[in-house]
Amino acid sequence: MRLQVETLTVHPARPFAISRATTAEKTVVLVRIGRGVGEAAAYSSHGDTLEGVLAFLKQAEGVLGDDPFDLEGLEQRLHRLAAGHTSAKNAILTALYDHIGQELGVPLYRLLGLSGEAVPTSYTIGLGTPEEMVRDLEAHPEFSVYKIKVGVPGDLELLRELRRHTDKPFRVDANGGWRPKEAVRKIREMADLGVVLVEQPVPPDDLEGLAYVTRHSPIPVIADESVHTSADLPALVGRVDGINIKLAKSGGLREALRMIHIARAFHLRVMLGCMVETSVGITAAAHIASLVDDVDLDGAYLLADDPFEGAWIQAGRIHLPQRPGLGVIPRAAETPKNP
Ligand SMILES: [Mg+2]
Repeated sequence: MRLQVETLTVHPARPFAISRATTAEKTVVLVRIGRGVGEAAAYSSHGDTLEGVLAFLKQAEGVLGDDPFDLEGLEQRLHRLAAGHTSAKNAILTALYDHIGQELGVPLYRLLGLSGEAVPTSYTIGLGTPEEMVRDLEAHPEFSVYKIKVGVPGDLELLRELRRHTDKPFRVDANGGWRPKEAVRKIREMADLGVVLVEQPVPPDDLEGLAYVTRHSPIPVIADESVHTSADLPALVGRVDGINIKLAKSGGLREALRMIHIARAFHLRVMLGCMVETSVGITAAAHIASLVDDVDLDGAYLLADDPFEGAWIQAGRIHLPQRPGLGVIPRAAETPKNP
């Protein structure tokens, strides 16, 4: 099998700021194998870079083999090639799932035996001035839950301001920006403001800090940057209430499915998140969204220039296309984004 690689730079409608970085544009890599396409959105906080993705893909072509259905074998060959490189591995496996689905004439969710129902997703409000964040909230009234980026000085005040403009539940994501005691103090106040869940309150390596926050938090604490693959799960059991799975971190759908099932065995809550990425990457994740508790797949919705049509958000729910495979097609020029 041959692999074609193309880079693509996309832009959030508003620069997307979290506690440790701001994204004004993002260059992703599209991988095409046979009839399929996959996307690598480098997971920067894990040492995954655009250059690293491109270098890995060059090497990976040599181990693709000839059988697109041999996903298990390919996944093992990719792991033997190099550890990490999860966003590139995800792109390759997604392209093959897309190819297989098209060969068989079935949407990916059906290939996986899943329901494909439309599920609620959060809308993420990046950091900004209180006015910018309120404007963002009020411009998206159709969502049933919002995810607010926190983890910076003044975040409690930002949240109080946003609360004046909606009664809907908030999730917050500190992206590791708090210290444990500060986190507990802020989370308690935020819970009183209708925050129902908190993501990555303390830095990724501070597992004892995570455990401390979880013990003292009145709302579920979800690990995001602290968990990449199922190998990270044993250390988190008993220290957090749940995990946020992203295909760019897990290395693809197969590992994401393993993580979901392992997490369930330990009674962990499961969230499915994303990167700033196009509808190729988002649609791949959306095909397994019916399996999780909390869906946060607005990465393509946040873009001003997503060149693809795939899963789409309407009335706060993410809907799957019924076309075979991923179901992603180039966006027709006259098609409005996220109708
Ligand atoms: Mg997060």
